[in-house]
Amino acid sequence: MKIKAQISMVMNLDKCIGCHTCSITCKNVWTNRQGAEYMYFNNVETKPGIGYPKHWENQEKWKGGWELKNGRLQLRSGNKATRLAKLFYHPDQPEMDDYYEPWTYDYETLITSQRKNHQPIARPRSLITQKRMEIKWGPNWEDDLAAGESARQDYNLQNIAEDITLEFHDLFMKYLPRTCNHCLNPACVAACPSGAIYKRDEDGVVLVSQDGCRGWRHCVPACPYKKVYFNWKTNKAEKCIFCFPRLENGLPTVCADSCVGRLRYMGVLLYDMDKVKEAASTPDKGEIYHSMLDIILNPHDPEVIAAAKDAGIPANWLEAAQNSPVYKMVKEWQVALPLHVEYRTLPMVWYVPPLSPITQRAEADVYLPAVQEMRIPLSYIAELFAAGNVGVVEKVLQRLLDMRMVMRTQETGEKLSRKLEYELETYQAM
Ligand code: SF4
Ligand code: SF4
Repeated sequence: MKIKAQISMVMNLDKCIGCHTCSITCKNVWTNRQGAEYMYFNNVETKPGIGYPKHWENQEKWKGGWELKNGRLQLRSGNKATRLAKLFYHPDQPEMDDYYEPWTYDYETLITSQRKNHQPIARPRSLITQKRMEIKWGPNWEDDLAAGESARQDYNLQNIAEDITLEFHDLFMKYLPRTCNHCLNPACVAACPSGAIYKRDEDGVVLVSQDGCRGWRHCVPACPYKKVYFNWKTNKAEKCIFCFPRLENGLPTVCADSCVGRLRYMGVLLYDMDKVKEAASTPDKGEIYHSMLDIILNPHDPEVIAAAKDAGIPANWLEAAQNSPVYKMVKEWQVALPLHVEYRTLPMVWYVPPLSPITQRAEADVYLPAVQEMRIPLSYIAELFAAGNVGVVEKVLQRLLDMRMVMRTQETGEKLSRKLEYELETYQAM
């Protein structure tokens, strides 16, 4: 067993209000400079929606990405000659249009233009080309559309399963904050010909050495989450650094610190590095989540503690792992899931999936609503967080509902339903 420590994050999606404070604080701290205008190390997407950059979840579109074959990351398609050509030419780079060109208001026109009936009068201009922008799309434009049937047909949303037919009263939307996942099996690291991207030994943070980067840009299409950006001014790749200078001083990341919904939890996980390749190669993609759980170790287990000490993991990190809310949510309670686990990079940012709005009040012996009656289709959540394995999502949501019912009955003094009592006993026995 080769033990490593990983700094990790869990986000509770029910609490995200889509205020974008996290993105803005991150931008002000890390990407508020020339060449980085379009970069959002942290962004918040409206789901269902096409995301940022556009269609990042459509792995067919980015065919030049990398895939895992026989346990090794390899260029996704083509013969040897094509692969060689791709070393020098990258047809699958997202373009500025995919990111949505940054714009600013034309303040001069705002002041001098003629008075009209409807305001504002001035249209935005592109910062870079100085042309007027046709606003056909922008991050979070789906806010206005939600996931109605017409939105799906009109905009060909990629991620809504075909079998879902939504009526107007079933509309739903939710927010998905995204950062680099500081993966255990990072495709960006595997793709870099210069060895400039690396995963830090001590805490698993994935960084790009600005001295080592030669601007190959293989990391950009390689990351299935599209969380590496290319700085057009410095000609270097950049990505989320998990605020490592803050972590080193005992502070949380800026996004976690500033989160209005207080939904970001940070903590340390211990994992068995020897099993990473095996987990990433799990044949059935619906089972990768379970393989990930298998490699995360119990920091209270005396054998693990001894092995961690032998591996040189400092005492304060071991203590952090033992008190980690991430460990509790991911492994102990099993209520947090990885985003698009089928990409096989073993992401270390986890999500507590959203319960749909609950409108019915709990009655003494009635257990409502059933997970199957949730407004957000289970198959949609399963597509995002469990490679389509609905069973995994059902179990997590049921557990969240149970937790909520326990809290509620504690507050109101109501009696637990027999069904819930039974389920709690089952959890305790696990
Ligand atoms: Fe690399 Fe992308 Fe994983 Fe971040 S999310 S570690 S950039 S592969
Ligand atoms: Fe969501 Fe928190 Fe970001 Fe606001 S600051 S968008 S609540 S993650």
